[in-house]
Amino acid sequence: MNNFKFQNPTKILFGKGQIASLKDELPQDAKILLLYGGGSIKKNGIYEQVTSALGDREVVEFGGIPANPEYAKLLEALAVIKQQDITFILAVGGGSVIDGAKFLSAAALYEGDEPWDILTNNISTKEGMPFATVLTLPATGSEMNSGSVITRAETKEKLAMGGPGLFPVFSILDPQVIHSIPRRQLANGITDAFTHVLEQYMTYPTGAYLQDRLSESILQTLIEVAPKVLKDPTDYTAASNFMWSCTMALNGLISKGVPTDWAVHAMGHELTALYGIDHARTLAVIAPSHYTYNFEAKKEKLAQYAERVWNITDGSTEDKARAAIQRTEEFFHELDIDTKLSQYTDDYEGTAEEVSKRFTERGWKALGEHQSLKPSDAEQIVRMAY
Ligand code: NAP
Ligand code: FE
Repeated sequence: MNNFKFQNPTKILFGKGQIASLKDELPQDAKILLLYGGGSIKKNGIYEQVTSALGDREVVEFGGIPANPEYAKLLEALAVIKQQDITFILAVGGGSVIDGAKFLSAAALYEGDEPWDILTNNISTKEGMPFATVLTLPATGSEMNSGSVITRAETKEKLAMGGPGLFPVFSILDPQVIHSIPRRQLANGITDAFTHVLEQYMTYPTGAYLQDRLSESILQTLIEVAPKVLKDPTDYTAASNFMWSCTMALNGLISKGVPTDWAVHAMGHELTALYGIDHARTLAVIAPSHYTYNFEAKKEKLAQYAERVWNITDGSTEDKARAAIQRTEEFFHELDIDTKLSQYTDDYEGTAEEVSKRFTERGWKALGEHQSLKPSDAEQIVRMAY
């Protein structure tokens, strides 16, 4: 196990009726920006729950943050923060709204002229404007981590940012919010969380028995609840296990003391930037090819995953490892998620070269848990995913 430091300051308020606790959790004297997305919260009762809990606090609303939070839109919100002397951001939404809030938290206190530099220059945010979240879509784990991914349509870029100053002060997780989530987004949430665990678990060598078993238990729980939430999103037991699994998949706990990969996300982000494919679906496209391409290095861990998560016990290490990749792809198919790029766009020729070119231009010399994947390897992985 590697050395590590672990600190996660986000307070979680989990369970039925917890949105009402905004009343006590939000600072009384704050001037609040209420940030939300395309309007789902106004149709499913969440907006009413939030506004009634806000009481007579000073609140400015800013809606319209799109899925894949868009830089141009966020700059409009940043102008509101500055003009209206906002002191606290409340994000009500899924990963896109929460990631948008993190960008605003960083940009509000950023002293440079061009906030996009925070993303291109990998500026770690030590201190941001305080913000909190009401999570409406289990998926990203953004509600309990300090990372964010921002899209810039103008340049077809999707880049990550973060820093110790970008943890939410608190996050409210009421599993009942999932009743209104469309099936497609539920499937995305399961797939994103599942892949988050794989990115931190399918690495070598680790010698981290507990982290392995924590990861395996999250994967097993997601596999167990997936058909249940898809069949009946009002099943509270399934919803609560789904929601907490997604948070635990990316709140820092399972990545401590182990190498982490994140190459699937790096390549997936490019597919979203180029074609607008849902984040989770890009991961389902890349992951099987990534594990097949890196088979020799990852086969022992793949075989462990096969045995412990999928009960695949027959055959050699290689047999089990191959079966595990296939079973993972079948799992995505069971969620109605396609796993080939050509199923999302007819315009896929040249994507592999484009991804490799972008990584090179950005100065990304290598990816993966041992920085062993060059842009040319990414090119081959993306081509295998056509
Ligand atoms: P999302 O983009 O936040 O939301 C997807 C859609 O679901 C939106 O149309 C949204 O509608 C709708 N929705 C949300 N909650 C709903 C509800 N309760 N009922 C009905 N509809 C609802 O999806 P996401 O998967 O959570 O976030 C994806 C983004 O997060 C991507 O940009 C991805 O790159 C990023 N991400 C971040 C991290 C991280 O750690 N920070 C990790 C992985 C991915 P409205 O807009 O109308 O609300
Ligand atoms: Fe993700």
